[in-house]
Amino acid sequence: MWEARPPTYEDHMQKPLIIANWKCNPSTREQAEHLFGTIKRETKNINGVKIVICPPFVWLPSLNGLSLGAQDCFWEKDGAYTGEVSPKMLKDLGWCDYVILGHSERRKYLKETDEMINKKIKAALKSDLTPILCIENISQLKKRTKDLLRKEQKKLIIAYEPVFAIGTGKPCTPEKAKEMKTAIKKIIDKDIPIIYGGSVNSQNATDYIKMAGFQGLLVGGASLDSEEFIKLAKNVARACPVVELRSLRDCVQ
Ligand code: PEP
Repeated sequence: MWEARPPTYEDHMQKPLIIANWKCNPSTREQAEHLFGTIKRETKNINGVKIVICPPFVWLPSLNGLSLGAQDCFWEKDGAYTGEVSPKMLKDLGWCDYVILGHSERRKYLKETDEMINKKIKAALKSDLTPILCIENISQLKKRTKDLLRKEQKKLIIAYEPVFAIGTGKPCTPEKAKEMKTAIKKIIDKDIPIIYGGSVNSQNATDYIKMAGFQGLLVGGASLDSEEFIKLAKNVARACPVVELRSLRDCVQ
């Protein structure tokens, strides 16, 4: 029986994180359950990675047995805010521990601002959700994490997602991504997990962890293809043994 427990800092630092962003997919509950079930079954013996699935809100109650996250949340816990879902509601599900915040598609299509994202992060933390904060540059990082205490910063996962690489099939090179990771570490607590996202697939996934020292990956398109996603998870687990990760992180700065 799957027992949900809140993720710890150690969970995020000991194993590479593989976070699936399903975006507005799949379009039926049956397909969502099938995709989730296949990933769950085929990854149950992979101990070397931590998998988090972020489906659309409506599929969250139907999925259970792998760590789950939402793709957004509101900044109030309840009230007259038509269409919004609060962090308290997500937490109340009992098995949703993460929330993606600040994805570039929400800025592009819904005009989400840095100030809104800052409020969402603070609200998510109050409800004990782990924010997966997406940023494209340092300016966004500074504005979105404004006024966060050091101890609050430590509860974040930062996803570096260069906008040119998202959904384009043109990933950022590991070298360039590594430069950005170094720049992020100068601004924010050095020990926060920083992951990379943008056209990651089973072939390039390990480069961002082994060569660029990222703590994990945010995977969009490739997470909707169960075979590709499972291969990606296996490749990362094989290439990055758990025991090595801490030392890797220390040497690949
Ligand atoms: C994303 O949307 O977060 C993402 C990384 O997408 P893709 O992997 O499809 O580029």
